[in-house]
Amino acid sequence: MRKYIVGNWKMNGTSNDLQEISAIAALATQYPAVDIAICLPATLIARAASLVPGFAIGGQDCHQQASGAHTGCISAPMLVDAGARLTIIGHSERRADQYETDANICAKAMAAHDAGLRAIVCVGETLTQRDAGKAIEIVLGQLESSLPDEADGDWLSVAYEPVWAIGTGRIPDESDVAEMHFAIRKHIISRFGSDGEAIRILYGGSMNGENASILLAIPNVDGGLIGGASLGAVKFEPIIDAAA
Ligand code: PEP
Repeated sequence: MRKYIVGNWKMNGTSNDLQEISAIAALATQYPAVDIAICLPATLIARAASLVPGFAIGGQDCHQQASGAHTGCISAPMLVDAGARLTIIGHSERRADQYETDANICAKAMAAHDAGLRAIVCVGETLTQRDAGKAIEIVLGQLESSLPDEADGDWLSVAYEPVWAIGTGRIPDESDVAEMHFAIRKHIISRFGSDGEAIRILYGGSMNGENASILLAIPNVDGGLIGGASLGAVKFEPIIDAAA
């Protein structure tokens, strides 16, 4: 399976950062064996997509409806119109800050698919849940309710992001990542049959140039969702290189 390396710029980036997006897109051309994308704040998507037309630019969320009275929201067809090819759905920061539920996330994933976007659906446990020995149960429960009834690897990826590892510099033990990704693989194969074998499972949470080669070598880790270390080409390159 081709590795998928996706940057999540979160609420970072203005016009001054367009040159960094160009640098990342230029870098991507040197790694044809890796699928690379950057998910940007909505305000930058259209400009980035026209600046680097050959490179995959994504959003970080979409509304479940295509249009309507939803002030401040952005729909999947709007992302497509702006030039996005993918979107993150159900990031833990949105689950926490915007109170997104598994049901919302499932509807958003279907909306993304209907609009022709690839979707990365995020799941992950809190530290309290892990310490209570409930990490796998929580993540499988999130998957059960957040993934649509039909999916395949052409448009869907899953990102396992332990909440306590995001932006903290902490990562789980390799054996814990392996155990979780295996459990996720089993779940998606049981739901989607052989299509579940081709759905990429990304790891996210403090992945950087130092730990990427270890994390990306773990079975069923098919790529990474990267926040802080995707904000510049220099920090992002070693991760892409490890994937290659
Ligand atoms: C993320 O926000 O998806 C993420 C993994 O962030 P970081 O790499 O900064 O931990």
